[in-house]
Amino acid sequence: MSAAKASNLRRKLTKSALALLMVAANQLSISLSAFCWNDFGHMTVAYLAYKKLNPHTRERVDQLLKLCPSYQDWLAQIGPGVSDAERNTQVFMLASTWPDTIKGDQRYKSDGSQHGFRPEGPGASQNIGYSDFQLHKYWHFVDQPFTYDHSRLPQDIQPNALTQMAAFRSVLASDSPDELKSFDLVWVIHIVGDLHQPLHCVTRVSRTHPDGDSGGNDVKLSDAGDSHNLHGLWDWILGKGGPRDVIAYADKLPEPPAKLAAKTDATVWTDEGFKLATKKVYVGPIKKSDGPFVMTDSYVQKARALAEQRAELGGARLAALLNNELK
Ligand SMILES: [Zn+2]
Repeated sequence: MSAAKASNLRRKLTKSALALLMVAANQLSISLSAFCWNDFGHMTVAYLAYKKLNPHTRERVDQLLKLCPSYQDWLAQIGPGVSDAERNTQVFMLASTWPDTIKGDQRYKSDGSQHGFRPEGPGASQNIGYSDFQLHKYWHFVDQPFTYDHSRLPQDIQPNALTQMAAFRSVLASDSPDELKSFDLVWVIHIVGDLHQPLHCVTRVSRTHPDGDSGGNDVKLSDAGDSHNLHGLWDWILGKGGPRDVIAYADKLPEPPAKLAAKTDATVWTDEGFKLATKKVYVGPIKKSDGPFVMTDSYVQKARALAEQRAELGGARLAALLNNELK
């Protein structure tokens, strides 16, 4: 083979290897995105909350987050040349993504059944801090079922995001060791975000999906950019980017109504999420089947406006909860 031919072949191989890598990266981002409000959404809620923490609570959360095994990674991501206040703000924002980030860390294992989305055994609700290497994917949502075709609704599945919120909050308000409080704090920051995404509060049960549609993950979309299903569309609706992009975006958001912002009972949030999902999420162009449906600009615009309101409320409620309860 001539040198020119060899170099041409090498170029071709590198190209196809790159293409394969891009496909793999794309699939990874799809599979990670399919089940959780993305980093941008979580960091928006966290940033809005951090701004509202009183000085004592801020000092406490700053202290507790230093105990997370990912603390040094967060500092590395933030980089040098930022003030202490900015660094602490961004640490709190990055902490909100931790329960998703560990899904890409091989030390953590998917537990439970149905790809980890159904809890199994007593370990499912253990609260043992950072020595826990189970992913507990079922801690991210609460499947409140509804149906359009009179299907029998499945039983409530526990543990779920609601049971864990209650467990973690009681630890934050107690004299438990700081190591455990740190773990529970990271989860609370994350779950408050998730529970303000309406599709983390419901599942649509039908003859084709007797256990539910996994919060809209089984409702397929065509022509909706990176989102291939309804859940993914809502997870990514607020945008993409790092902490600085989130700050620039979230600083422009209005204050939520004070009366609603003061509601720190998580069952109120999930009731709201359920109603919103049935009235404003599973609506045209989404029909009663699994799709694929062609998304419309009008749906996306309304969805974005609603998701922003949920993020504003999530931020204010997370702050109220921590200001009131964290010891
Ligand atoms: Zn989540």
